[in-house]
Amino acid sequence: MAANECLFCRIVAGEIPADIIYEDERCLAFRDVSPQAPVHVLIIPRAHIESLMSARQPDEAIKELLKRKHNILIGERTAEAIRNELGTPSSSTEERSMEIRGRDITQGVPKTISITGKDVREALGGSMATLDEATLGHLLTVATRIAQSEGVTESGFRTVINTGAGAGQSVFHLHLHVLGGRALNWPPG
Ligand code: AMP
Repeated sequence: MAANECLFCRIVAGEIPADIIYEDERCLAFRDVSPQAPVHVLIIPRAHIESLMSARQPDEAIKELLKRKHNILIGERTAEAIRNELGTPSSSTEERSMEIRGRDITQGVPKTISITGKDVREALGGSMATLDEATLGHLLTVATRIAQSEGVTESGFRTVINTGAGAGQSVFHLHLHVLGGRALNWPPG
């Protein structure tokens, strides 16, 4: 789905109202419109990331960029390092550059190039940002903060990410549910 048609992207853009209780440069948290517990908050990345399944795609995009633009082949770990260093959508990473070692595709010899955060942002499709480990970790840290501010840390709370329609995902923009304020049964339905 195009980002501009996505319900949660429209909430991020302020086009659809939501009861926003927390926001920072990476994410937004708002109350679920159909709460399943006294506390039911959704935490979403600002960037349009469809689901947890998007986690590996950015590295492929970075590898593709380096092949296409610089004729250089890099490994998984280098792609991951580039994503962690330059993939976070923020103005401070735009101008930052990084030296990359790989292999020249045509000649098969070691090659070193320099790329910038801007290159990486372009490879990832502008606003189609990465689902990197830092972002995922951030969403969970924000969940704890919200559980605290909602007063459910003592009684207990649950964090849920539904991935795929079969698991109940109905909005294809990654979101983390924070549920609390009542007894939560296990196993979940
Ligand atoms: P999931 O089923 O895991 O994809 O969760 C999607 C959640 O988004 C559901 O709990 C819905 O109630 C919630 N939701 C849908 N539209 C809105 C909206 N406009 N504002 C807040 N929450 C919404």
